[in-house]
Amino acid sequence: MGTITEELKRLALDYASNMQRGITEIDRKLAQIEQEKLELNAERDKAHAALERAADFPVKGGRDYPCPICWVDGITSFLRPAASDTRKDAFRCPTCHFEDAF
Ligand SMILES: [Zn+2]
Repeated sequence: MGTITEELKRLALDYASNMQRGITEIDRKLAQIEQEKLELNAERDKAHAALERAADFPVKGGRDYPCPICWVDGITSFLRPAASDTRKDAFRCPTCHFEDAF
């Protein structure tokens, strides 16, 4: 049996060592938050670039129309005529499978 001060010091060390065990969990959460931040920034940059790409969509050209979805994603893929059951002209993208009729 130690003195009261020795006992109090032991309690302080126990308490501190319990807090220490939380550090690993806190570090893990911080790393996860950093990763999520990186992903959000990348998504944000991609959205900004997409707006610029969309603004540059070629409005005049030949008979081949670029796919608007692929264009924004940075790919030039030309729409192909597709079967249409209306009087509209249907088109389909062979890359992303976007489909619409005009
Ligand atoms: Zn496409």
